[in-house]
Amino acid sequence: MADDIERARELIAGAQRITVLTGAGVSTDSGIPDFRGPQGVWTLNPAAELIWNYDNYVADPEVRRTAWQERVEHPMFSAVPGRAHQALVDLERSGKLFALLTQNIDELHQKAGSSPSLVAELHGSNHGTVCLTCGAIAPMADALARVRAGDDDPACERCGGILKATTIMFGEMLDADVLMRAREAAIACDLFLAVGTSLGVHPAAGLVDIAAQVGAEVIIVNAEPTPYDPIASVVLRGGISEVLPEVLRR
Ligand code: NAD
Repeated sequence: MADDIERARELIAGAQRITVLTGAGVSTDSGIPDFRGPQGVWTLNPAAELIWNYDNYVADPEVRRTAWQERVEHPMFSAVPGRAHQALVDLERSGKLFALLTQNIDELHQKAGSSPSLVAELHGSNHGTVCLTCGAIAPMADALARVRAGDDDPACERCGGILKATTIMFGEMLDADVLMRAREAAIACDLFLAVGTSLGVHPAAGLVDIAAQVGAEVIIVNAEPTPYDPIASVVLRGGISEVLPEVLRR
């Protein structure tokens, strides 16, 4: 492991434009469970995946009530950034961070101090709501306050339509502009760093391939194996809060 960390540090020292892709693993030490890790929400309860499906959410008021109850109790809304988020702020200060692509919906990178202009949220944000009828966007906090006050499936206050989080659910397309920006960042970088992601969700996971094909070095930091480990220059298997600050320390 020490040799691998040293090798990763050398690659980072030699890089000019680093694109980072983060997943749920950067936020587990902030108290937000991932989906597919050993303590992941779906690992412990596979049925929980159903409420993340767009068609189920729209068709079934019971699914929405379950989703709202989960949101209102979710640690995400009180979580604070951890050492991994901070290490990526420090990377930005070094001038080498080209883009910070995240699959996370918790906004902890921005909370830690990463520039919003460098962050691309591939799967949206859980901090807003959108009306599926009129498209009105509103703060998630407003809807959660209504749930706490007893409304178990709050509807749009403007038109009565169904409200969902401003996240990309299974069955929904990613925002085309965000995806294009992410692909451009994968093409333009000379080092691609994937952190805390099982790299099992496409098209986000395919960004690793794009970067590798244009000749970028690939570093993967994740506790468990990923399908992209064989094409990585270095794979670091330890805990992210320990490994990432160590690798990015100048
Ligand atoms: P994932 O759950 O599929 O994979 C997370 C990976 O991180 C796992 O392989 C796990 O072993 C690893 N990991 C977890 N904690 C770690 C730690 N402390 N050190 C090292 N490795 C650690 O997550 P994903 O690939 O991001 O995809 C899941 C989807 O779920 C994403 O699309 C995202 O939108 C959503 N999600 C987001 C959050 C969040 O915003 N914090 C949380 C859960 C799920």
